[in-house]
Amino acid sequence: MAKKIVAGNWKMNKNLQEGIALAKELTEVVKNPNCDVIIGTPFIHLASVAEVIKGSCIQLSAENCANKASGAYTGEVSAEMVKSTGAEYVILGHSERREYYAETPEILKEKVELALANGLKVIFCIGESLEEREANKQNEVVKAELAGSVFHLSAEQWKNIIIAYEPIWAIGTGKTATADQAEEIHAYIRSCVAEVYGAEAAAETSILYGGSCKASNAPELFAKPDIDGGLIGGASLKAADFKGIIDAWG
Ligand code: PEP
Repeated sequence: MAKKIVAGNWKMNKNLQEGIALAKELTEVVKNPNCDVIIGTPFIHLASVAEVIKGSCIQLSAENCANKASGAYTGEVSAEMVKSTGAEYVILGHSERREYYAETPEILKEKVELALANGLKVIFCIGESLEEREANKQNEVVKAELAGSVFHLSAEQWKNIIIAYEPIWAIGTGKTATADQAEEIHAYIRSCVAEVYGAEAAAETSILYGGSCKASNAPELFAKPDIDGGLIGGASLKAADFKGIIDAWG
């Protein structure tokens, strides 16, 4: 059985003090959840938030890392640096990084490899644009994204990969994929994983849904057999909203 996970992605929101306050609030309100709970924060928050959540059920993720190991790359943050803060995860392949920062499948492949080599688990995002969905190309798109950046990994490395299916047309738009639409493509993604790593590994791979997921629609989405949780943007910025989604796991 795949692990159930609710992961937040704060994106470029919250200054350091606000981020620490939100992390503290989460440690107070999230107790004994029926899923793993991860918060993805900006780089500068990581070390401080790691201290705040120590001993709680909340785990920590970065939202990115460099595709170089170290050296003269001004402004970049390496996977090793991320790991040294206490973070255990990194979100890679988010559509905003692909679109606004020109992150290609090759660059993402390098980032994934460095993240894994430094002991981080990767939340790898895939998903189609509205035009691609309208042309019924969503399956092709997600399969190519997987093949381009993560399907070369060994079976051992694959154990540290979490997939987040995030249709771009649903991110921050208030438009959610219906539970049936999401289930259909999640099942397809799992079948792609099974083709490469086998049925057992596919069943153990967590596949999260992302895109305007909130407390009101999470129960219906999470009830689907191939949806193992959510990657949450906007609704991860308020403790009550995020907890509402975590509570969808009962
Ligand atoms: C995201 O960008 O990862 C996301 C799911 O955003 P939102 O929940 O705001 O749609």
